Amino acid sequence: MTPDSSSVYDLCIIGAGVVGLNIAREISRYQLKICVIEAADDVGRGCTKANSGIVHGGYSDEPGSLKAELCVAGNRLYAQLDSELHFGYRRTGSLVLAFSDAELSSLNRLLANGQQNGVTGLRIIGRDELLTREPHVNPAAIAALLCENAGVTSPYEFAIALAENAIANGAQLFLSETVQSITKTADFFRIATDKSTHYARFIVNCAGVNSDRIAALTSLDDYRITPRRGQYVLLDKDQSHLVRAVIFQTPSPLDKGILVTPTYHGNLMVGPNAEDIDDKTDVGTDIQTLQSIVVQAHRSVPGFDMRKALTSFAGNRPVSNQKDWVIEESRVKNFINLIGIDSPGLTASPAIARKVALILKDCGLGLKVKPIFQAQRPPIIQQKPPDFAGDVNSSNPTQHIICRCEQVTEAEILDCLHRGIPVRSLDAVKYRTRAGMGRCQGAFCGPRVRELLSRELAVPASEICGKGECSSPLAQRARRGDLFQL
Ligand SMILES: Cc1cc2nc3c(=O)[nH]c(=O)nc-3n(C[C@H](O)[C@H](O)[C@H](O)COP(=O)(O)OP(=O)(O)OC[C@H]3O[C@@H](n4cnc5c(N)ncnc54)[C@H](O)[C@@H]3O)c2cc1C
Repeated sequence: MTPDSSSVYDLCIIGAGVVGLNIAREISRYQLKICVIEAADDVGRGCTKANSGIVHGGYSDEPGSLKAELCVAGNRLYAQLDSELHFGYRRTGSLVLAFSDAELSSLNRLLANGQQNGVTGLRIIGRDELLTREPHVNPAAIAALLCENAGVTSPYEFAIALAENAIANGAQLFLSETVQSITKTADFFRIATDKSTHYARFIVNCAGVNSDRIAALTSLDDYRITPRRGQYVLLDKDQSHLVRAVIFQTPSPLDKGILVTPTYHGNLMVGPNAEDIDDKTDVGTDIQTLQSIVVQAHRSVPGFDMRKALTSFAGNRPVSNQKDWVIEESRVKNFINLIGIDSPGLTASPAIARKVALILKDCGLGLKVKPIFQAQRPPIIQQKPPDFAGDVNSSNPTQHIICRCEQVTEAEILDCLHRGIPVRSLDAVKYRTRAGMGRCQGAFCGPRVRELLSRELAVPASEICGKGECSSPLAQRARRGDLFQL
């Protein structure tokens, strides 16, 4: 069937992670019809939701690589983006610790790398300055590489903010649709999902660990993505006073080393390890790995208390068979591949979006600026004054506390339901408002959030899922990737 031209998108982005959504937001500046297709029931559910949340300085990537160039460029865009989108970003600085002369040599190599990459605010500090800055790090450290421009962010809130803003600027988002086949005709691509068919003149493949499979749908069989899992332990906020900056150990060939970091919202987090696995959807954690992470993290900061652990989680880095990230028009005209966007992809994502916009322009997609682009997106989480007098029984939504641990009000939850992205599960509310992220992990607020959702969506409370589409076998298969084998 031939679609009429009004139903053909100029651009279809496959994958609503932080990379795809930065591109969507960037391209929504222009007079173009764009859509984003996402297999999960919410945005940012791939490795965007499960990473260290570090805005890296850019000293560890190989000079001359795309990773290095885009990490440094992306880092510089964060403050401005946060002032527009209010997703949560704080410049904390980072420190790589050295415990031996050999590790000190590694720091010198990282310093030289960083200088070649154009990183500013980078220097090696001695033990005294280290312990003045960070009194709780292991005093056995002999030196550290200080990177003043590193920071922390809230990756899933970044994704949500980008999506809301792109939608406010005209982008269309299709959730719970798994791309299954792509057919190229003379004028456009036909993109078939498990639910419907879309047409677009250009495609950008941002499917994370599945980007090799999406490329293969157009018969580009060059790429293999191996999921490299990293596990974490998240600790209570009363542990975060132990560090001010992100504390790394000297990196291994596989990863940036175990870190101890404050999160944007003031928890303490330790991890990740790096383990190549077979199943792209396996984000399980195991006790042996977590124990080993904790032992290694205690080497950096001996004083954190594991009795204050709240939860563990894991994410899979999309590691490709290519030496560097692939960000280019493929052999299939107008099909742009983003392959192997592993760390520091979160940091680089705003710069990746600008690069992709230039690629699309070079490929012939006209970028005519919209007369009105809405750059601002208001925050969901409201800063509460120190004397905030919320109450679990208040009838005023701005005072009515739903989540005691994180002080989330009814007004914040109601707000997150009406911003253009369907919010249907306790998890979707949690990632937007933090209701359920605190010490009790949702034991108190879970039933209250469920009641609110039931009231607002006019569905029985029993139909509100904890983790999104828990009842849909098709969605479960899409997440596992089985649909690619159909
Ligand atoms: C353990 C770990 C630690 C990390 N730490 C950092 C860090 O501190 N700083 C940093 O800068 N980077 C870090 N990264 C890297 C960063 O998380 C990623 O580079 C970034 O999130 C990639 O975003 P993405 O949008 O490309 O992928 P994703 O977030 O995975 O998004 C891809 C999306 O595509 C969707 N999709 C897949 N197949 C289909 C299909 N067939 N149809 C429709 N949709 C589909 C998926 O559901 C998913 O939502 C880390 C990664 C990991 C795993």
